[in-house]
Amino acid sequence: MIIAVDGPAGSGKSTISKLLAKELGLVYLDTGAMYRLFTLKMLKENISFSDSDKINELLENLNINIENDRFYLDEKDVSEEIRKSEVSENVSEVSAIKEVREEMINLQRKFSSSKDVILDGRDIGTVVFPNADIKIFLVADPKERAERRYKEVIGKGGKASFQEIYESIVNRDRLDTVREISPLKKAEDGIEVDTTGKTIEEVKNMILSIYKTKSNIC
Ligand code: C5P
Repeated sequence: MIIAVDGPAGSGKSTISKLLAKELGLVYLDTGAMYRLFTLKMLKENISFSDSDKINELLENLNINIENDRFYLDEKDVSEEIRKSEVSENVSEVSAIKEVREEMINLQRKFSSSKDVILDGRDIGTVVFPNADIKIFLVADPKERAERRYKEVIGKGGKASFQEIYESIVNRDRLDTVREISPLKKAEDGIEVDTTGKTIEEVKNMILSIYKTKSNIC
């Protein structure tokens, strides 16, 4: 069983995917975190985004790990660091690099082999698993997505500017949508779920009902 959950930044993909994973007994993979981990590595090593040789070298020696919802780079827990604005501002540029995508897709497929999985990202239903059993495309009004992210940061005691978050989300979506390789888009057979104005519980139930309908058909 493979469930693909794609959609723009802050549309609730990871929150919903985690809940569904628990409810349906699936393993969850946050593919956005993988691109964030590699972006952090590039920034730490101060590597130019156009230096293919160095990028290939980094990819060959990459040491990333995800365990119990924590994210590790070179054995160090960087779960908070990968969410910081420096990474968010650069991740779309890094994820548009061909070699980076190829390696991440390899890892995602390897991770998912002989497992029941739910993966969230931008190209899961279109490129990584075009034959996924269920393909969800989560969308929501950008202002609401920014509002959710803003509340999340403030709720954790952090500082944030709504306007900055809004602009960063819109900019990231634009870069992810216009890139040449594996752009953000709904799969032809994807099911769009609009989460604007809906609670997490409502969205979860909408997807569960899609799952049940599909399971009865198969
Ligand atoms: O999901 P999240 O917002 O953490 O993803 C961070 C970035 O990683 C996205 O903006 C996108 O550039 C990249 N990404 C991607 N393909 C995926 C998942 C994420 O290009 N499957």
